[in-house]
Amino acid sequence: MKLIYTDDHREHAGAKEMRYDQMIPMSESPERMDLVIQGLADAGFQDIVKPDVFPDDHIHAIHDPGFVRFLEVAYSLWKKEFGPGGFATAYTFGMRGMDQVPNESVHSMLSCYTFDVCVPIVAGTWKAVRSAVDVALTGSAAITAGERAVFSLCRPPGHHASGDLAGGYCYLNNAAIAAQFYLNAGIDRIAILDVDYHHGNGTQRIFYERNDVLYLSLHARPEDEYPFLMGYAQETGACEGENYNVNLPMPLATGWHDYREALQHAISRLQAYRPDVLIVSLGVDTYKDDPVGGFALESEDYLRIGELISLAGLPTHFILEGGYAMAALGRNVGNVITGFEK
Ligand SMILES: [Zn+2]
Repeated sequence: MKLIYTDDHREHAGAKEMRYDQMIPMSESPERMDLVIQGLADAGFQDIVKPDVFPDDHIHAIHDPGFVRFLEVAYSLWKKEFGPGGFATAYTFGMRGMDQVPNESVHSMLSCYTFDVCVPIVAGTWKAVRSAVDVALTGSAAITAGERAVFSLCRPPGHHASGDLAGGYCYLNNAAIAAQFYLNAGIDRIAILDVDYHHGNGTQRIFYERNDVLYLSLHARPEDEYPFLMGYAQETGACEGENYNVNLPMPLATGWHDYREALQHAISRLQAYRPDVLIVSLGVDTYKDDPVGGFALESEDYLRIGELISLAGLPTHFILEGGYAMAALGRNVGNVITGFEK
């Protein structure tokens, strides 16, 4: 399987994040990618391909142009006020009755276009974010050209980002941009299977009223876990998108037995829908020791996840999302691809 990758992600590094009552180094780090690449190599996958450069139109097909511009200029505006180094982050958020017209103040933009304190912007964030889109789209172009499966090693991840909001380590929604690429290329039926531990609130919001992308997500119950406000089973889509959104929330400490049942349910929904292309938002923060997760999957379970996904028998585009248990991250991602290719 081709792995699409560029070193440009390394520029997005060095910020801190708030974890409840502490400021800690970001769990979403460049080292994650090194471990993923090592884990894939250990599993025999090392066909690394550099991304092509795609025009911004693909981004604007999903994201608000003002929001995209904000991501591009936020750090330079921040630097004018605070000097070099550090990172831009919001202090308030546009909540009920507080929405505002974006202006040229970096603080207003941060308040308007981010929804949590987990999307710090450093000097190289835009370069990394932009390169992750090219990594996703290069995978889409390969699948469109007839490849059976590819893996876009995107960093930063994307599934928490919606059309005009960044959050949860996510700035632009790589999977959604890839999905729109397929539709624009004349491929009519797309499904996104999101197996990250967290609900992909951004992807859900982008496609919630649309019937051209089926979104299926397995994740921790929003009562217990980030993003806390979305991901309930009763969120099934709206307007033309009714029944095109499938949430399968699970309680904390969920292990393989119950996870497998949910995944099999999702696969049967997929098979009934019969998409032309399957995008897998691949997060492995469902692992038992993940510092950001609360499920109980073992490393061997990721082989089974890959196998079950392969049973759908579809052209499959893996896109990397979360996974933060450094000691097992590479092995777990490698196991998904090994199980899929078996
Ligand atoms: Zn996650």
